[in-house]
Amino acid sequence: MNFLRRRLSDSSFIANLPNGYMSDLQRPDPPPPPPPTAATKAPAGSTPAPSAPPAAKSPTASPAPERQPQPAQSAGSGFFSSFTNVVKQTAASAGLVEQSPAAVSRKFKILLVIDEPQHEWAKVFRGKKVQGDHDVKVEQAEFSEINLVAHANGTCSVDMQVIRNGTKVVRSFKPDFVLVRQHAYSMAQNEDFRNIIIGLQYAGIPSVNSLESIYNLCDKPWAFSQLISIYKKLGADKFPLVDQTFYSNYRDMISMPTFPAVVKIGHAHSGMGKVKVDNHSDFQDIASVVAITQTYTTTEPFIDAKYDIRVQKIGSDYKAYMRTSISGNWKSNTGSAMLEQVAMTDKYKLWVDTCADVFGGLDICAVKAIHGKDGKDYITEVVGSSMQLIGDHQLEDRQLIAAIVLAKMNQESGRTAARSPQRPPTTVQPAQVRSICTVLQIIIKSQSLTNAFNAFGETFRSSNEDEAKAETIRNLRKSFASLFSD
Ligand code: ATP
Repeated sequence: MNFLRRRLSDSSFIANLPNGYMSDLQRPDPPPPPPPTAATKAPAGSTPAPSAPPAAKSPTASPAPERQPQPAQSAGSGFFSSFTNVVKQTAASAGLVEQSPAAVSRKFKILLVIDEPQHEWAKVFRGKKVQGDHDVKVEQAEFSEINLVAHANGTCSVDMQVIRNGTKVVRSFKPDFVLVRQHAYSMAQNEDFRNIIIGLQYAGIPSVNSLESIYNLCDKPWAFSQLISIYKKLGADKFPLVDQTFYSNYRDMISMPTFPAVVKIGHAHSGMGKVKVDNHSDFQDIASVVAITQTYTTTEPFIDAKYDIRVQKIGSDYKAYMRTSISGNWKSNTGSAMLEQVAMTDKYKLWVDTCADVFGGLDICAVKAIHGKDGKDYITEVVGSSMQLIGDHQLEDRQLIAAIVLAKMNQESGRTAARSPQRPPTTVQPAQVRSICTVLQIIIKSQSLTNAFNAFGETFRSSNEDEAKAETIRNLRKSFASLFSD
């Protein structure tokens, strides 16, 4: 009994129930009990439903006590009702189950920002509210630091392990919204995080940019196909697209481009996998390299560049930059370069506006182009919300991104409310509380599970800033203390 008391007053106990056990909460009720005319034994395998305080003090009691009539579960008073309420509050506050719209919900929304740690998004969102009076709680991690489990009912649990100031921080949470500021895919660094994008999409977590667009931008030629469509629609004058060729693999690289050419191998960033090729024999050499990469390649005529152009659009804010190589590298994003903001022209606006429409719409995007010494522009690429911020207005750009995220998070509250009636009820029901009772018994019985909970405990101990959860856990302690006091 003392052990049970200790476990139930342990702050990490209910919050640390592993996913499999909490999902028990969402199972449908067992068949209704037989009529209360005679004392009936509970069916084999079912969990005893404690109905009076003395029974409640022995949740591990076996064999199962006799079932009592329904009023004990629905009267709204006594042990069972108190226990139900405690579990409801705890599970909901831990973000482990969803609540009906009528239920009291957490007073914060969790925004997962996928970005490098030096960009401190928590500062940008500090003090910001969404959906009335909900604080925005930022959880920030890089793609490489997160794993997730997504369920068809829309729940998504993200685990993240990050090193901050030399300290390992472990967290587990359910994001309400995602801001993606890193590339989801790069062949060059063997960084393929499309599994995370798929998981977030699977759980239906709203995102900036949309997860669909992020996934679609994971292959540059796939994205370039959208630019081809725009080019066909607007024409070369309004949308001067570079003359690119796609090779599905090295075997196709027998038809030569015009030289000098730029060969772009697979999908990589920051100048990686891009080679300037001056003649046929160099091209054959590159084709032999492509042969061992097992990927596609594109080629473009080499543009003798005066400068690179980047036109960015964040929401309704437009900025244009030109970048001139200083070190002489033909890739102006490699080595040193000079960056200058230039005027937004109608031409640039048209480029970026049309590109912002691809893949269902890009809230944040940029169009890249090269301005040749021949005086012509060549559009080469569209990038999404993973685009690096550049220039003197990065702070402003971050605020603009935050404004988009907040607006979308507010929109989501309306959509969630509209969707709710079609979703299966996920509030904790009395029958589901019985499932928790079962879990209590199995805890007590299994040392290995206890060890597992200890491991999960680390997760929540490290979340010491989670005031709302801490408050609920304090309430839980009090409630259980009064329930089990003699
Ligand atoms: P990102 O990091 O944005 O995903 P990337 O840097 O890997 O892209 P690109 O932007 O295509 O790849 O190329 C890198 C640089 O190489 C460009 O900034 C530009 O200066 C130069 N470049 C790209 N294509 C050409 C070309 N066809 N002719 C001349 N220079 C080019």
